[in-house]
Amino acid sequence: CMIDYQAPDDLLKGRVILVTGAGDGIGRTAAIQYARYGATVILLGRTISKLEKVYDEIEAAGGPQPAIFPLNFEGATLKDYHDMVEALNKEFGRLDGILHNASLLGTITPFEQYAPELWDQVMQVNINGPVWMTQALLPLLARSEDASLIFTSSSVGRKGRAYWGAYSVSKFATEGFMEVLAEEMEHLGSLRVNTLNPGATRTSMRASAYPAEDPMTLRTAEDIMPTYLWLMGPDSKGHNGKKFDAQPPRT
Ligand code: NDP
Repeated sequence: CMIDYQAPDDLLKGRVILVTGAGDGIGRTAAIQYARYGATVILLGRTISKLEKVYDEIEAAGGPQPAIFPLNFEGATLKDYHDMVEALNKEFGRLDGILHNASLLGTITPFEQYAPELWDQVMQVNINGPVWMTQALLPLLARSEDASLIFTSSSVGRKGRAYWGAYSVSKFATEGFMEVLAEEMEHLGSLRVNTLNPGATRTSMRASAYPAEDPMTLRTAEDIMPTYLWLMGPDSKGHNGKKFDAQPPRT
């Protein structure tokens, strides 16, 4: 946890960074922060109106001009990912990081009642889609002299919890995939792959998982950004295959 990290203003200058689920919650805040620290941000998500708002906010703040990439992990195909690589290659010619942040909660329900269609949907959005998108983007990432791949985990991706179903299993899969890929990329020395657990954060996903909780007791997405910046920027170089937390556990 690097909650006290202070990023230099030019931390991400000249870098091109893709953020999935950039229209809302933690992804939205991370995209805005990455741009504030100099990155050209590619805003990926399924609701274009939300992405446009983030785009406008980044422009208004005077950040590097971002790009919008509409994509829904539910229906996305390999062709979509390859078209994406082509578009990124043409427009930017480089990619220096991905924040895999988009996720679906599914339902909090006893496993006996878990609907198979919803299970598949959660696995598609949280792990299968991101896996194939990553495969398509690897050649571009491998060309960067310093690239960071961040996969968003959860405390239920490190220890299973009753009723968390597909969401928990998808986050375990995310941790596993990170370890596999990190070892395979180790020889490059220029591409690190890690997971980051944001911890309880005031977003709509958290509110739907814990409807009775007072959101004002939670840290905001802004509060947890130091670790998001550190892990995306050059100060975390050399860290590969590790599991990070963006905030200390709540007491
Ligand atoms: P939100 O639900 O607020 O935001 C999730 C984002 O992902 C939204 O922008 C959403 O788009 C996008 N998204 C969802 N489904 C798809 C899809 N099929 N295709 C493309 N984009 C999609 O969640 P949080 O900000 O709270 O969570 C961010 C990450 O942090 C997730 O990986 C979550 O699992 C993780 N996390 C969050 C915690 C918390 O306390 N908030 C705790 C632990 C982990 P749209 O806006 O269109 O719905």
